Amino acid sequence: MEKNIKMPVLFVGHGNPMNAIQTNVFTETWRQLGKSIPTPKLILCISAHWETRGTHITAMPNPKTIHDFGGFPKELYEVQYPAPGFPLFAEEIRDKNPNLNIGLDTKEWGFDHGSWTVIKHIYPDADIPMIQLSIDYFASFEQHYKIAKQLTYLRKQGVLIVGSGNIVHNLRTVDWHQRVNGYEWANEVREQVNQWLFEREHDDLISITQKGESFRMAIPTSEHYIPLLYTIAMQEKDEQLSLFNDKLTMGSLSMTGVKIG
Ligand code: ZN
Repeated sequence: MEKNIKMPVLFVGHGNPMNAIQTNVFTETWRQLGKSIPTPKLILCISAHWETRGTHITAMPNPKTIHDFGGFPKELYEVQYPAPGFPLFAEEIRDKNPNLNIGLDTKEWGFDHGSWTVIKHIYPDADIPMIQLSIDYFASFEQHYKIAKQLTYLRKQGVLIVGSGNIVHNLRTVDWHQRVNGYEWANEVREQVNQWLFEREHDDLISITQKGESFRMAIPTSEHYIPLLYTIAMQEKDEQLSLFNDKLTMGSLSMTGVKIG
Protein backbone atom coordinates (compact mmCIF):
# COMPACT_ATOMS: atom_id res chain seq x y z
CA MET A 1 0.00 0.00 0.00
CA GLU A 2 1.68 3.20 -1.15
CA LYS A 3 -0.53 5.84 0.39
CA ASN A 4 1.45 8.94 -0.39
CA ILE A 5 2.16 8.34 -4.02
CA LYS A 6 0.03 10.25 -6.49
CA MET A 7 -1.64 7.55 -8.54
CA PRO A 8 -1.96 7.74 -12.30
CA VAL A 9 -5.47 7.96 -13.79
CA LEU A 10 -6.68 5.57 -16.46
CA PHE A 11 -9.30 5.35 -19.14
CA VAL A 12 -9.85 1.92 -20.63
CA GLY A 13 -11.74 0.98 -23.77
CA HIS A 14 -13.48 -2.19 -22.54
CA GLY A 15 -15.00 -3.34 -25.85
CA ASN A 16 -16.43 -6.83 -26.12
CA PRO A 17 -17.25 -8.53 -22.76
CA MET A 18 -15.54 -11.66 -24.14
CA ASN A 19 -12.22 -9.93 -23.39
CA ALA A 20 -12.83 -11.12 -19.81
CA ILE A 21 -12.10 -14.73 -20.76
CA GLN A 22 -9.76 -14.20 -23.70
CA THR A 23 -6.08 -13.58 -24.01
CA ASN A 24 -5.40 -11.10 -26.79
CA VAL A 25 -3.35 -7.97 -27.49
CA PHE A 26 -5.71 -5.83 -25.44
CA THR A 27 -5.82 -8.06 -22.36
CA GLU A 28 -2.04 -8.51 -22.47
CA THR A 29 -1.59 -4.74 -22.33
CA TRP A 30 -3.96 -4.49 -19.36
CA ARG A 31 -1.98 -7.18 -17.57
CA GLN A 32 1.31 -5.31 -18.11
CA LEU A 33 -0.31 -2.07 -16.99
CA GLY A 34 -1.16 -3.54 -13.58
CA LYS A 35 2.47 -4.47 -13.11
CA SER A 36 3.81 -1.09 -14.18
CA ILE A 37 1.96 1.24 -11.80
CA PRO A 38 2.14 1.57 -8.00
CA THR A 39 -0.22 -0.72 -6.09
CA PRO A 40 -3.34 1.27 -5.20
CA LYS A 41 -5.19 1.19 -1.90
CA LEU A 42 -8.48 1.27 -3.76
CA ILE A 43 -9.83 1.29 -7.33
CA LEU A 44 -12.62 3.73 -8.15
CA CYS A 45 -14.23 2.84 -11.45
CA ILE A 46 -16.58 4.99 -13.50
CA SER A 47 -18.23 2.56 -15.89
CA ALA A 48 -20.39 3.33 -18.93
CA HIS A 49 -22.76 0.66 -17.69
CA TRP A 50 -23.94 2.28 -14.48
CA GLU A 51 -26.21 5.23 -15.19
CA THR A 52 -28.46 6.63 -12.49
CA ARG A 53 -30.46 9.69 -11.49
CA GLY A 54 -27.88 11.68 -9.52
CA THR A 55 -24.43 10.35 -8.62
CA HIS A 56 -24.15 7.21 -6.53
CA ILE A 57 -21.28 5.21 -5.09
CA THR A 58 -21.18 1.51 -4.25
CA ALA A 59 -20.80 0.91 -0.51
CA MET A 60 -21.20 -2.79 0.14
CA PRO A 61 -18.46 -4.97 1.67
CA ASN A 62 -18.72 -7.70 -0.97
CA PRO A 63 -19.99 -6.34 -4.28
CA LYS A 64 -21.57 -8.88 -6.61
CA THR A 65 -20.28 -9.53 -10.12
CA ILE A 66 -23.02 -8.40 -12.50
CA HIS A 67 -23.34 -10.13 -15.88
CA ASP A 68 -25.11 -7.26 -17.59
CA PHE A 69 -25.17 -8.54 -21.17
CA GLY A 70 -27.06 -11.10 -23.22
CA GLY A 71 -26.27 -13.90 -25.65
CA PHE A 72 -22.74 -14.79 -24.61
CA PRO A 73 -21.31 -18.25 -23.81
CA LYS A 74 -22.08 -19.80 -20.42
CA GLU A 75 -18.42 -19.59 -19.48
CA LEU A 76 -18.63 -15.80 -19.38
CA TYR A 77 -21.62 -15.87 -17.00
CA GLU A 78 -19.62 -18.03 -14.62
CA VAL A 79 -16.86 -15.50 -14.14
CA GLN A 80 -16.73 -13.93 -10.69
CA TYR A 81 -14.53 -11.06 -9.64
CA PRO A 82 -14.46 -11.34 -5.86
CA ALA A 83 -12.59 -8.14 -4.95
CA PRO A 84 -13.92 -6.55 -1.76
CA GLY A 85 -15.69 -3.20 -1.59
CA PHE A 86 -14.67 -0.43 0.80
CA PRO A 87 -17.85 0.96 2.42
CA LEU A 88 -16.04 3.24 4.87
CA PHE A 89 -14.08 4.94 2.13
CA ALA A 90 -17.22 5.31 -0.01
CA GLU A 91 -18.89 7.04 2.92
CA GLU A 92 -15.90 9.29 3.34
CA ILE A 93 -16.04 10.35 -0.30
CA ARG A 94 -19.72 11.21 0.14
CA ASP A 95 -19.09 13.13 3.36
CA LYS A 96 -16.16 15.12 2.00
CA ASN A 97 -18.09 16.26 -1.08
CA PRO A 98 -21.50 17.32 0.24
CA ASN A 99 -22.22 19.53 -2.79
CA LEU A 100 -22.18 16.47 -5.07
CA ASN A 101 -25.06 14.82 -3.17
CA ILE A 102 -23.57 11.39 -3.70
CA GLY A 103 -25.95 8.56 -2.83
CA LEU A 104 -24.60 5.49 -1.02
CA ASP A 105 -25.60 2.25 -2.68
CA THR A 106 -25.41 -0.57 -0.15
CA LYS A 107 -27.23 -3.27 -2.11
CA GLU A 108 -28.32 -2.49 -5.69
CA TRP A 109 -25.19 -2.47 -7.81
CA GLY A 110 -21.81 -4.17 -7.56
CA PHE A 111 -19.29 -4.65 -10.38
CA ASP A 112 -20.77 -4.38 -13.87
CA HIS A 113 -18.91 -5.67 -16.93
CA GLY A 114 -17.44 -2.22 -17.62
CA SER A 115 -15.31 -2.71 -14.53
CA TRP A 116 -14.72 -6.43 -13.94
CA THR A 117 -14.00 -7.57 -17.52
CA VAL A 118 -10.99 -5.21 -17.58
CA ILE A 119 -9.88 -4.98 -13.93
CA LYS A 120 -9.75 -8.78 -13.83
CA HIS A 121 -6.76 -8.53 -16.18
CA ILE A 122 -5.12 -5.55 -14.48
CA TYR A 123 -5.45 -7.11 -11.00
CA PRO A 124 -6.05 -10.85 -11.50
CA ASP A 125 -5.73 -11.64 -7.80
CA ALA A 126 -8.81 -9.53 -6.95
CA ASP A 127 -7.05 -8.42 -3.78
CA ILE A 128 -7.52 -4.67 -4.15
CA PRO A 129 -10.84 -3.19 -3.00
CA MET A 130 -12.95 -1.64 -5.75
CA ILE A 131 -15.92 0.71 -5.71
CA GLN A 132 -17.91 2.21 -8.57
CA LEU A 133 -19.17 5.74 -9.07
CA SER A 134 -22.26 6.04 -11.25
CA ILE A 135 -22.87 8.34 -14.19
CA ASP A 136 -25.66 10.83 -13.58
CA TYR A 137 -27.88 10.43 -16.62
CA PHE A 138 -29.06 14.02 -16.31
CA ALA A 139 -25.71 15.78 -16.03
CA SER A 140 -24.09 17.56 -19.00
CA PHE A 141 -20.58 16.75 -20.24
CA GLU A 142 -19.37 19.90 -18.54
CA GLN A 143 -20.96 18.87 -15.23
CA HIS A 144 -19.34 15.43 -15.40
CA TYR A 145 -15.98 17.08 -15.99
CA LYS A 146 -16.52 19.26 -12.91
CA ILE A 147 -17.58 16.36 -10.68
CA ALA A 148 -14.40 14.54 -11.67
CA LYS A 149 -12.19 17.57 -11.08
CA GLN A 150 -13.47 17.84 -7.55
CA LEU A 151 -12.50 14.22 -6.90
CA THR A 152 -8.92 14.62 -8.16
CA TYR A 153 -7.62 14.76 -4.56
CA LEU A 154 -8.28 11.01 -4.29
CA ARG A 155 -5.25 10.32 -6.48
CA LYS A 156 -3.03 11.47 -3.63
CA GLN A 157 -4.74 9.06 -1.26
CA GLY A 158 -3.65 6.01 -3.22
CA VAL A 159 -6.86 5.66 -5.23
CA LEU A 160 -6.58 4.44 -8.81
CA ILE A 161 -9.35 6.07 -10.81
CA VAL A 162 -10.40 4.16 -13.91
CA GLY A 163 -12.90 5.44 -16.46
CA SER A 164 -14.25 2.53 -18.52
CA GLY A 165 -16.09 3.03 -21.80
CA ASN A 166 -15.17 3.29 -25.47
CA ILE A 167 -14.37 6.55 -27.23
CA VAL A 168 -15.73 5.36 -30.59
CA HIS A 169 -18.77 3.20 -29.83
CA ASN A 170 -21.47 2.63 -32.41
CA LEU A 171 -23.10 -0.79 -32.00
CA ARG A 172 -25.55 -0.16 -34.83
CA THR A 173 -22.73 -0.16 -37.36
CA VAL A 174 -20.54 -2.82 -35.72
CA ASP A 175 -19.18 -5.42 -38.12
CA TRP A 176 -19.49 -8.64 -36.08
CA HIS A 177 -17.59 -10.55 -38.79
CA GLN A 178 -14.63 -8.23 -38.31
CA ARG A 179 -13.97 -7.76 -42.01
CA VAL A 180 -12.81 -4.23 -41.30
CA ASN A 181 -10.88 -2.87 -38.34
CA GLY A 182 -12.19 0.65 -38.54
CA TYR A 183 -14.48 2.66 -40.82
CA GLU A 184 -13.07 5.85 -42.23
CA TRP A 185 -15.23 8.12 -40.05
CA ALA A 186 -14.35 6.07 -36.97
CA ASN A 187 -10.67 6.45 -37.71
CA GLU A 188 -11.03 10.17 -38.32
CA VAL A 189 -12.62 10.58 -34.87
CA ARG A 190 -10.04 8.34 -33.20
CA GLU A 191 -7.20 10.43 -34.64
CA GLN A 192 -8.79 13.77 -33.81
CA VAL A 193 -9.60 12.76 -30.24
CA ASN A 194 -6.04 11.51 -29.77
CA GLN A 195 -4.69 14.85 -30.97
CA TRP A 196 -6.94 16.73 -28.54
CA LEU A 197 -5.83 14.43 -25.74
CA PHE A 198 -2.15 15.04 -26.45
CA GLU A 199 -2.68 18.80 -26.79
CA ARG A 200 -4.81 18.90 -23.62
CA GLU A 201 -7.68 20.51 -25.53
CA HIS A 202 -10.28 19.69 -22.91
CA ASP A 203 -12.83 22.19 -24.20
CA ASP A 204 -12.91 20.39 -27.54
CA LEU A 205 -13.28 17.05 -25.80
CA ILE A 206 -16.16 18.38 -23.69
CA SER A 207 -18.00 19.81 -26.69
CA ILE A 208 -17.36 16.79 -28.90
CA THR A 209 -20.97 16.21 -29.92
CA GLN A 210 -20.97 19.53 -31.75
CA LYS A 211 -18.10 18.63 -34.05
CA GLY A 212 -19.99 17.28 -37.04
CA GLU A 213 -21.29 14.12 -38.69
CA SER A 214 -18.34 11.76 -38.09
CA PHE A 215 -18.52 12.55 -34.38
CA ARG A 216 -22.26 11.94 -34.27
CA MET A 217 -21.64 8.54 -35.88
CA ALA A 218 -18.78 7.66 -33.53
CA ILE A 219 -20.53 8.84 -30.37
CA PRO A 220 -24.27 8.27 -31.00
CA THR A 221 -24.95 7.96 -27.26
CA SER A 222 -22.97 9.56 -24.47
CA GLU A 223 -22.53 6.85 -21.81
CA HIS A 224 -19.42 5.19 -23.29
CA TYR A 225 -17.72 8.55 -23.84
CA ILE A 226 -18.43 10.17 -20.45
CA PRO A 227 -15.92 8.02 -18.49
CA LEU A 228 -13.17 9.63 -20.60
CA LEU A 229 -14.23 13.04 -19.25
CA TYR A 230 -13.70 11.77 -15.68
CA THR A 231 -10.19 10.67 -16.60
CA ILE A 232 -9.03 13.82 -18.40
CA ALA A 233 -10.53 16.13 -15.77
CA MET A 234 -7.97 14.73 -13.33
CA GLN A 235 -4.99 15.64 -15.50
CA GLU A 236 -2.89 18.33 -13.94
CA LYS A 237 -1.31 21.00 -16.14
CA ASP A 238 2.13 19.55 -16.63
CA GLU A 239 1.20 15.89 -16.59
CA GLN A 240 2.21 13.39 -19.23
CA LEU A 241 -0.43 11.45 -21.12
CA SER A 242 0.07 8.24 -23.05
CA LEU A 243 -2.19 5.94 -25.05
CA PHE A 244 -2.43 2.16 -25.14
CA ASN A 245 -4.54 -0.34 -27.12
CA ASP A 246 -5.10 2.46 -29.62
CA LYS A 247 -6.93 0.37 -32.20
CA LEU A 248 -10.34 0.15 -33.80
CA THR A 249 -12.13 -3.19 -33.89
CA MET A 250 -15.32 -4.37 -35.56
CA GLY A 251 -15.52 -1.18 -37.62
CA SER A 252 -16.85 1.18 -35.02
CA LEU A 253 -15.43 0.31 -31.59
CA SER A 254 -12.19 1.87 -30.40
CA MET A 255 -10.18 0.15 -27.71
CA THR A 256 -8.01 3.21 -27.04
CA GLY A 257 -6.89 3.55 -23.44
CA VAL A 258 -5.37 6.61 -21.77
CA LYS A 259 -2.85 6.80 -18.95
CA ILE A 260 -2.22 10.09 -17.19
CA GLY A 261 0.70 10.51 -14.83
ZN1 ZN B 1 -19.72 -1.20 -22.83
